Amino acid sequence: MIYLVEHFYSIQGEGQFVGTPSLFFRFGGCNMRCEGFGCSEIAPDGSKIIGCDTVYAVNKEHFSKNWVNITTVDQLLTILTLYELPHAVDIVLTGGEPLIYANDEIFIDFLEQLHKRGHRITFETNGSLAVDFAKYPIFKECIFALSVKLSNSNEPYKKRINPDAIYSLATYSKDAFFKFSIDEESINLGLEDEITEIITHAPKTKVYCMPLGGNKAEVEKNTQPLIEFCKAKGYNFSDRLHIRVWDENKGV
Ligand code: SF4
Repeated sequence: MIYLVEHFYSIQGEGQFVGTPSLFFRFGGCNMRCEGFGCSEIAPDGSKIIGCDTVYAVNKEHFSKNWVNITTVDQLLTILTLYELPHAVDIVLTGGEPLIYANDEIFIDFLEQLHKRGHRITFETNGSLAVDFAKYPIFKECIFALSVKLSNSNEPYKKRINPDAIYSLATYSKDAFFKFSIDEESINLGLEDEITEIITHAPKTKVYCMPLGGNKAEVEKNTQPLIEFCKAKGYNFSDRLHIRVWDENKGV
């Protein structure tokens, strides 16, 4: 069963393709919780759920009432007709963790159809789940934004760091880049050592660091210290343009 949380046409707000018009598909469910990020959302049942800035797309138990069950590829393809899109617009598959569906035949069919139509496909993934490039060569045509989680997520090391998955996603895909969310406190706590270790699993891969935060005020607070961090380490600073412009508003 595939769950779709939302879709929206916007610009990519972060990472290598920032500013690029993109159609986003946000899939429901994740193999992590990342409560360390401290964002919260009120679930349909009234409970307050702590997690990342997309907690409403992570926690199946509390939020799946609001998600759409996808049982045919046409349900996904039809979404492209709901917008006036430029030819072969960028497609971004995000979540939650979209790679929890990496072995689903409907999901694979969707990727193949998008590729046939000439779309550039980018996954926003936590980089902890391997995909089967031999069985599903369509993944070789995809780009992976590897948002590998650091200890500030409060997830256990073994769950968030999968060296083989990082290596294969970076090596066998069309392109890949690392994307890390960092706040001022974490910089002071020495997260740079964690980043240094993670990128050894794919050393030629570009690194982008983004200010942590689920709203504009938090992102702005973390921006200046992060720019200084990037200058010192030689990493690329990535804004989180969508949060800066639209704050906490979600897609349709
Ligand atoms: S891995 Fe990503 S989507 Fe999943 S809980 Fe962590 S930050 Fe949220």
